[in-house]
Amino acid sequence: MRCIECGARYAAGERIYFCPRCGGLLDVEYERDRAEALKPFSTSFKERPLSVWRYRELLPIGNESRIISLNEGGTGLIRCRNLERELGLREVYCKNEGENPTGSFKDRGMTVGVTKAVELGARTTICASTGNTSSSLAAYSAKAGLECVVLVPAGKIALGKLSQAVIHGAKVIAVRGGFDDCLRLVRELSKDRRFYLLNSINPFRIEGQKTAAFEIYEQLGGVPDNLFIPIGNAGNITAYWKGFKELKELGLTDRLPRFMGVQAEGASPIYRAFIKGSDEVKPFGRVETVATAIRIGNPVNWKRALRSVRETGGRVGAVSDEEILEAQRILASKEGIFAEPASAASIAFLIKAAREKLIDRDSRSVCVITGHGLKDPDVVLRRVRLREVDADVESVLEAIGGVSEKAAVTLR
Ligand SMILES: *Cc1c(COP(=O)(O)O)cnc(C)c1O
Ligand SMILES: [Zn+2]
Repeated sequence: MRCIECGARYAAGERIYFCPRCGGLLDVEYERDRAEALKPFSTSFKERPLSVWRYRELLPIGNESRIISLNEGGTGLIRCRNLERELGLREVYCKNEGENPTGSFKDRGMTVGVTKAVELGARTTICASTGNTSSSLAAYSAKAGLECVVLVPAGKIALGKLSQAVIHGAKVIAVRGGFDDCLRLVRELSKDRRFYLLNSINPFRIEGQKTAAFEIYEQLGGVPDNLFIPIGNAGNITAYWKGFKELKELGLTDRLPRFMGVQAEGASPIYRAFIKGSDEVKPFGRVETVATAIRIGNPVNWKRALRSVRETGGRVGAVSDEEILEAQRILASKEGIFAEPASAASIAFLIKAAREKLIDRDSRSVCVITGHGLKDPDVVLRRVRLREVDADVESVLEAIGGVSEKAAVTLR
């Protein structure tokens, strides 16, 4: 592991989350044989299906380790022709991470992170979470036979996510404060060696999450021109950046996608730094957005997020809650994909980018749909009232109020 600040190196078997010398974040580096690293890309899908562990030569896990897996990764890359037509874009795809075992991309990181926890002899895992990290960590810890503790902001976690953490047997602690407070607390607690920390500070989670970039490359037969991705703590954008860079280092591609990161307006410190051209991200003290998974004011991985965007000629955008909810409705009603609000932010930014001509109409875009809409059904049901009718055909027909002869696709 190499410190991203001072460059100091440490063995992957050391149980540290930050550089002991300067407190910087750690990046996993490999001394590997190129032929070995290329093996996953020439192995048939019959022999090794598309999944996180298809890429095991590119993951920092020993051959003898017990792998804790629930069959994560291998998610669909779905062509969105209705969106293409409406937005006047040639190719748009959604990488549907809601298909993962607990319903979000967090499972890619947790299968590697919890496998590492077992390898290191940990007994109890811990994390701070806006929701999906706790769902995922609870499930993988249960599978591994580890105890799990999760800290969540009281009253600010979506119902689906909370129910998962509870049923998988985690000790769920509701903290009076926001995600940033929870993270500060678990960082403090993780100095106690009884707790193994699995937030996206943990470099092994980033390693698991980078496999989504490998999958997109294999599914498309190349890299896309633009990658739209929501940013919360900025672990995932860091992971995709690492994944695409590794493809380049291996000689599988000679270019990287433009990184189009997006935040919710009410929690957009990286966006602010980006538009000011600043190299410092000033944390937001107070954050508010319907997209609870990205309701983060002080993103730990901000430095790598900014670099990924700047080095690929991309952008950081910000979208309002209204734009997020509209994008969620459009994606669900035009493409059949139900995304949670944070995930719909990438679609909201795609719509904005198409309208403002921030991307070329002939380019190929992939939007990362980070989590399933069923995680947070309240956000949809809050806005509708079901009409009840008497149990007869006339009443039902009247309530239907007519059906159109031809199907139309319109974006309002
Ligand atoms: C965790 C999460 C994010 C944000 O990912 P980061 O790595 O924190 O930037 C976005 N969407 C969903 C659904 C998430 O669960
Ligand atoms: Zn350091």
